[in-house]
Amino acid sequence: MKNKCEWDPNFIRKQMLYLEGKKDDENLSYDDRERIAASIATYQYLLRLYNNELSFNNQGEMPNMQYAPSLIMQLFIDNMYDVEPFTAGDKYQHHLDYLSSLEEKPVTPLTINQKTETDIVNNVKTFWEHLSPTMTTEINKLEKLNPHCYQFDQKVNYAGHCFFDYYQRLPFLLIKKTNTLQDELALTHELTHALEFINCDYRGQALGCEVYPYLLAKLQHDYYQREGIETEDAKNLTHKLHNYALTDLKICSLQLKALKFVETNTEATFNDLATVFPEMDADELVKTLLIKSSHVFKNAISYAIALKLQEAYQDDEPTLINKLEQALTDKDYNFIEDHKKILVKN
Ligand SMILES: [Zn+2]
Repeated sequence: MKNKCEWDPNFIRKQMLYLEGKKDDENLSYDDRERIAASIATYQYLLRLYNNELSFNNQGEMPNMQYAPSLIMQLFIDNMYDVEPFTAGDKYQHHLDYLSSLEEKPVTPLTINQKTETDIVNNVKTFWEHLSPTMTTEINKLEKLNPHCYQFDQKVNYAGHCFFDYYQRLPFLLIKKTNTLQDELALTHELTHALEFINCDYRGQALGCEVYPYLLAKLQHDYYQREGIETEDAKNLTHKLHNYALTDLKICSLQLKALKFVETNTEATFNDLATVFPEMDADELVKTLLIKSSHVFKNAISYAIALKLQEAYQDDEPTLINKLEQALTDKDYNFIEDHKKILVKN
C-alpha cells in the first residue's frame, strides 16, 4: 500500500495512458481534445517532478538586459494588456487604492517542526472539519477521486500548486515542504483551488480567483488562535501573506505608472521610460516590468477583496462560511456577484 500522502506514479501513468488512447477520438469536441492534450502534458510534468528530473532554479526565469530595449518595451506592453483592468476601465482601481492605504506588518522567522506529511494532511483536515462538515465531505470526495492527490517536495520554488487533469477533473496537489506551519496553510490554499475545480466551472484564470484561498487562510489563522495552536507562527504567516500582497501591489502600481507613460509618450524608448524610475537600475526595472501582470493583479486584488469581505462578516462568520461552502460546491453560485454591494466602488 502506498503512502497516502504521496503521488502514485502508477496512478499517474494509468491516467496518462487512458488519455493517450482517447486523444484522437473523433467523437470528442475540440475543447475536450484540447483538455486532453493539456492534461497529458501535465502528467508528463508530474512524472518528471516525481522522478526528480526537474531543476528549480530562479535564475534564468527572468529576461535580462540582453534583450534589445525595443523588445523589452514590446514584451512589457504585451504583458500589461493581458490584464483585465485595462479592458474594464478602473473597475478594480479602488481595491488597489485600498491596499495602498495599508502598512507592512512585522514578521519573525517561523519555528521549524518535525511534522510528517501525514501529520500535515491530518492537521489541515481537522481545521476543515471545525470550519465546515460540508467541506470535509468535499475533501473526502476529492480523496476518493484521486487517492494519491498530495505530494510534498522541498525543492519547488513556490509554496504550492494545484495541477489538473482537465478532462477527468482530477486534481494533484503539490506543496513545498518547509517544515514550518506554512506547509499547512499552503495545503489549505491548494485544497481550496482543488474543490473549486472539481465542483465548479474552474474560475482559476479570472481576476479575483485567489479570494477564496485568502479567506480560507484568514479563517485558518483564526482557528489556530482560538484553539491555541502555534499561535505566533500563525500570526507571522498571516503577516507574511499580507506583506506579499503589498509587494504585488507595488509591482502593479509601478507597471501601471510605466504603462501610462508609454501611452502618453508613444515614441518613448526604454531609456526614456527608465528616467521615470530614477531610483531603480535598468536590470531591476526590466525584471519588475516583465513580472506577469495578470499574476500580481490577481493576487493584490484578491487580497483586497478578501480583507473587505472578512471585515463585512466579522460579526457573522457562520454566514461567511456558508457562502464559501456555496462558492466551492455550487457551480452556479457566484460569490463575487453576491457581494457586489461590498466590492463595487460606491
Ligand atoms: Zn492560488
